[in-house]
Amino acid sequence: MKNMFFTPGPSALYFTAEQHIKDALKSDIPSISHRSKAYVKMHQETTEVLSELLQLPENFTIGFTSSATEVWDRMSENLIRNHSVHFINGDFSKKFHTAVASHGKNAEGRIAEAGTHHDLLSATISEEVELVGLAQNETSTGAAMPVEDINSFRDKNKNPLFVVDAVSSLPIPDFDFNKLDSMYFSVQKSFGLPAGLGVWTFNERCVEKAELLKTEGNYHDSYNSILKIAKMAAKHQTTCTPNVLNIYLLGKVAKDMLDKGIGQIRQEAKYKSALLYNLFETHPKLNAFVSEKKFRSQTVGVAEVDGGSESLIQALAKKGLNIGNGYGEFKNKQIRIASFPTHSKEQIELLVDEINQLDF
Ligand SMILES: *Cc1c(COP(=O)(O)O)cnc(C)c1O
Repeated sequence: MKNMFFTPGPSALYFTAEQHIKDALKSDIPSISHRSKAYVKMHQETTEVLSELLQLPENFTIGFTSSATEVWDRMSENLIRNHSVHFINGDFSKKFHTAVASHGKNAEGRIAEAGTHHDLLSATISEEVELVGLAQNETSTGAAMPVEDINSFRDKNKNPLFVVDAVSSLPIPDFDFNKLDSMYFSVQKSFGLPAGLGVWTFNERCVEKAELLKTEGNYHDSYNSILKIAKMAAKHQTTCTPNVLNIYLLGKVAKDMLDKGIGQIRQEAKYKSALLYNLFETHPKLNAFVSEKKFRSQTVGVAEVDGGSESLIQALAKKGLNIGNGYGEFKNKQIRIASFPTHSKEQIELLVDEINQLDF
């Protein structure tokens, strides 16, 4: 039986990816120079279609990095003189905090219990805070922040740069990019592409902050510093040889998503995640880890398994159905199931049926 991947990243490829990979090989995409006209045209097409899919305003730049993890270091080096605040509610939000702290900055971590999210509406941010980091979809626990709360937070806190990790949720949440300054993701999660490409979007406030830090001498000018990325992005290029194949594929898959209709994709996400949470609520051995409905992710469902998650994961794998184990300390206690745009309603229904029939 062919393997199906419901793992939270890498995951199943977007269902059109295979054809696009074949087309890319036929048209020599992996061999073209990243300084050629053909590349520049392809890069521009990808960023334009991605901007359209995400409804990115004009004042945002799209930059490419090696991964989302890289973006944490670049932000530490280029956007923070000293003081940042990090809303931590799991391992990924914590890693951003750790990265900034390791650059010797005063990174203030505010911790919410795993499986919950922060009360953004009552959070207070003092004057000297330069940057606030939030993981909209904390992939390690399945806790997600509603877009409305993100928007209200910004309305109350206009001063700091507000950067949102949407690595495992884009393009599902309907973000208003006017309510944040930077957002980043990696392509191997919800976009269903091979790993090895990070996408970093940022507005002019980020660029201005970087320029200020540069004149002060508080800026680290790495090969992928934000000002270099911005300068090259204006020419539809990158600072170094990028993952050309993946930049091509991202444009193609984003176009397919646009053609299908982002509204349709978001409707299906709601339906698929409702199926998963219904399973977690009705199955005698499963329990949704995120108890507050408001904070439940629509792309990564996480459940605790009575007696441990290993036997369920193994039994499903024997049937070719690959789901994720828990993250970090929850490794053998939980399951994590991705319902990304590539996962059809029928595939999620099949997975739910199989789990209901299994004896584990
Ligand atoms: C996967 C993930 C990351 C890291 O992405 P990489 O591609 O491994 O760098 C960061 N944040 C969240 C929420 C993630 O799910």
